[in-house]
Amino acid sequence: MLVLLIGLQLQAQEIHKRTLKLMGSRFEITVTAENPEKANQYIDTAVSEIQRIERLISSWDPASQTSEINRNAGIKPVVVDPELYNLISRALKISEITDGAFDISYASMDKIWKFDGSMRSMPSEEAIRNSVSKVGYQNIILHPDDHSVFLKKEGMKIGFGAIGKGYAADRAKDLLRSQGVTAGIINASGDMNTWGTQPNGDTWKVAITNPLNKEHAFALLPLEDRAVVTSGDYEKFVKFNGVRYSHIINPKTGYPATGIISATVFAPKAELADALATSVFVMGIETGIDRINQLPGIDCIIVDTNGKVHTSKNIKLDSL
Ligand code: ADP
Ligand code: MG
Repeated sequence: MLVLLIGLQLQAQEIHKRTLKLMGSRFEITVTAENPEKANQYIDTAVSEIQRIERLISSWDPASQTSEINRNAGIKPVVVDPELYNLISRALKISEITDGAFDISYASMDKIWKFDGSMRSMPSEEAIRNSVSKVGYQNIILHPDDHSVFLKKEGMKIGFGAIGKGYAADRAKDLLRSQGVTAGIINASGDMNTWGTQPNGDTWKVAITNPLNKEHAFALLPLEDRAVVTSGDYEKFVKFNGVRYSHIINPKTGYPATGIISATVFAPKAELADALATSVFVMGIETGIDRINQLPGIDCIIVDTNGKVHTSKNIKLDSL
């Protein structure tokens, strides 16, 4: 009996958490483990994995394979790791299901719209038109034989700003799980992914940011082995003549999406939730909700610029 009790004691799981900056954003990694040493080791593993992914997909880092693809736009295909190839291939599928609202080749518009405080005036219509001419996921050519990627047009660029954090969160979760971590939360600055339950058996509860009041969570939701991601224009935006322009850009017009303050998407994977939250911004309320309603296992909550809340069909607001 005594031996059994000691055995249980040793097995007791505690919650451990670390907050740090990764991929230019605030990450919070939570794991359950039997002691702090074990927990630290697990968290270190997750951190290395996220840094590894950042080195692969960053379009800022000239040494990344993504930068290599961008440098060779209009020149030649670049052979990349299957991991990056597959990520791009999934991103193209998301472009298809969102009719191009989601488009990793948005990145050439980054030269026009800057959300780091450096913009002083509205870009000219001509500059916007020019930047859009380089955008188009149909011009990202994949060769499965040697997993090479070719951007057809000179000046084209891809970037993973709307999907990379979600992908990293999924990978970190899968890796920790495969190492025997029974429960945890990966929070990639609001892109959240959970597995298992709290040590007392309760479901993890995650806070969804209330776009109208950053200090107060919109809702504390139970999240069981699922992901939830919120895209919002409350962090990165520019304002000209009283109009707020968000950092999510409509690939067809070259202008930032308007009308929505925040879009929250629930999905089995953070990667898909991340990409779809961005897409809903571009698609707008009606089309966005309509599209989400057609996708099994996906739900969304949208707050419009008047503070009105819209939800997909399976979300009952009074249960939030
Ligand atoms: P955040 O990274 O702030 O959580 P999102 O996940 O919505 O927000 O991603 C927004 C980022 O995605 C932008 O900063 C930009 O890098 C990129 N992006 C902007 N517009 C698009 C688009 N139409 N399709 C794909 N990516 C986009
Ligand atoms: Mg996103």
